[in-house]
Amino acid sequence: MKNLLRDIEEILLLGPGPSCVPPEVYWALSQKTLGHLDPYFLEIMDDLKAMLRRIMNTANDLTLPLSGTGSAGMEAAFVNLVEQGDPVLILINGVFGLRMQDVAGRLGGQVDMLEFPWGSPVQVEAVGKMIRKKAYRLIAVVQAETSTGVQNPVAEIGRLLKGGEAIYLVDTVTSLGGLEVCMDDWNIDVLYSGTQKCLSCPPGLAPLSFSEKAMAKLKARKTKVPNWYLDLTLIANYWGQNRVYHHTAPVNMLYGLYQALLLILEEGPEKVFKRHRENHQALVKGLEGLGLKMLVDEPFRLPMLNAVCVPEGVEELAVRRRLRERSFGQKRKRRQVD
Ligand SMILES: *Cc1c(COP(=O)(O)O)cnc(C)c1O
Repeated sequence: MKNLLRDIEEILLLGPGPSCVPPEVYWALSQKTLGHLDPYFLEIMDDLKAMLRRIMNTANDLTLPLSGTGSAGMEAAFVNLVEQGDPVLILINGVFGLRMQDVAGRLGGQVDMLEFPWGSPVQVEAVGKMIRKKAYRLIAVVQAETSTGVQNPVAEIGRLLKGGEAIYLVDTVTSLGGLEVCMDDWNIDVLYSGTQKCLSCPPGLAPLSFSEKAMAKLKARKTKVPNWYLDLTLIANYWGQNRVYHHTAPVNMLYGLYQALLLILEEGPEKVFKRHRENHQALVKGLEGLGLKMLVDEPFRLPMLNAVCVPEGVEELAVRRRLRERSFGQKRKRRQVD
């Protein structure tokens, strides 16, 4: 049988995620698997938590990478904090806002949506009006809406919610590692991300952080968290001082994230963000030179995700297929020439 893994090298990744993984991270993934309670591994876990706190700009004790992709982070955020009948507000301007609404609704939350046109950011004034009408337990928004390439004003929304009762939840799956995220300064109570987008690591982990306020709400629940695997009271016992086995940590994935975070911190987050911004500007300039238009107005564009409008009369799927095939073929041809 032909080993299909041999030709993977040829394929170029240009989507939002998985994104390209640096060789250092592949090296990390291939290191020897340790036991999940090995003292050496426990040290690695402690450093991982410290690096996540730095990249999220938080002092939160409960800051850890959950087993599972970004959606596990989303599910964990809601399942730990939403109980039957809790009033929840989701700010929606794309696919991932809709997914949050689905997740919160399945838990029996009384979910209100505030929708904005896809391709435009959330309007802070409209959020202000909603919160004056009703006392929400939780308010959620996506920082980088991957489906449209829009950046939402999460710092401004945080200022609006400051001092209120509501828990402020922000999805940073696409943004963390490529855009500034200041969890504490922006009054964010719950934040989650994923490894395969701007952290340049394979998919499989969901960095997550809960503020003291979110932890207090979790501890004051009337009912048990209805999901055993994502119950943060149990997971915190493994990642905290007690080191109580909950589930076997995906040890090598955690090595990968460790190395990916180290690379960002060594380069310096400011420099990394600048690199994303400059690459984005160069790409947009080139695209506009070809006569192509961007979906999102300039001030709200994400640096790491570029939504390009396909001209009238051109079939979008055919364009993507062509790009994928061209990248595959060209690399192969180059190698033959070499
Ligand atoms: C990709 C993504 C998710 C889901 O993450 P998975 O790793 O695919 O589970 C959630 N939110 C946003 C904004 C995303 O871009």
